[in-house]
Amino acid sequence: MSYEILRRIFSLAYFIIPVSLIPFGFYEWHMVLISLLFYYIVVFIGVECGLHRYFTHNSYKTTRFWEYFLSIFPIFLTIGSPIAWTAIHRAHHRKSDTELDPHSPKYIPLWRIFTVTWSADHLSLKVGFARGVDFKFQKFLHDHYYKLVSLYILLLGLIGLEYIVYFWALPSLVAHVYQQVVNTLGHSADYNEDTKDHSRDIKFLGFIFPIIGYHHQHHLVPQAHRIGKGLKHLEPDFPAFLIEKIFMKKQ
Ligand SMILES: [Zn+2]
Ligand SMILES: [Zn+2]
Repeated sequence: MSYEILRRIFSLAYFIIPVSLIPFGFYEWHMVLISLLFYYIVVFIGVECGLHRYFTHNSYKTTRFWEYFLSIFPIFLTIGSPIAWTAIHRAHHRKSDTELDPHSPKYIPLWRIFTVTWSADHLSLKVGFARGVDFKFQKFLHDHYYKLVSLYILLLGLIGLEYIVYFWALPSLVAHVYQQVVNTLGHSADYNEDTKDHSRDIKFLGFIFPIIGYHHQHHLVPQAHRIGKGLKHLEPDFPAFLIEKIFMKKQ
């Protein structure tokens, strides 16, 4: 089965499972909070430090250990292999808010953005990772991505079926919605002459979600590992802090 068909099947599962359990009184609130915390950690480290700022924008150098770690960590949210994720995000930056932007709210209806029924089939997956990235490993991850997701779900199921909901389906659904909020709110401005797109900063949200808070700043300098200017300027950027303290290879 192709990657794209599997993506749709797994997305449907993490859409349906968490919602269908609500009427049965399944949820324990302390577990929901732990689940949201888990989502937040994986989204900041795996998606923002890894898939976004390292693999897509090559905004810093890291060690092989952290490169593998940042490749595998976001699997917990079924957010797409590094090859697929970077292909979509590179196309978004190259063609922002044009007909060739895979998820521009100017051209694609909101319901299609949120259900991810826009197609990424036409994108070339031969993405330009930085020289030095272990492409063979990335190809392996991409070819076996949904087997690895299945293995993760199986391991959770062996601990207890409820863990599949709290540590896979629910955080994956929240991460999915979060990404589509970035794609829509982050591109809700009038036309910007400097970036030739509709990207927008919503500064107060930067405290919790830097990529929403400083989205226009990010489009201005996509290759910068730091998007917010820092706490002194009331623009905290926690992923940039983690990159500088942990992931960035010191020269
Ligand atoms: Zn954008
Ligand atoms: Zn970007």
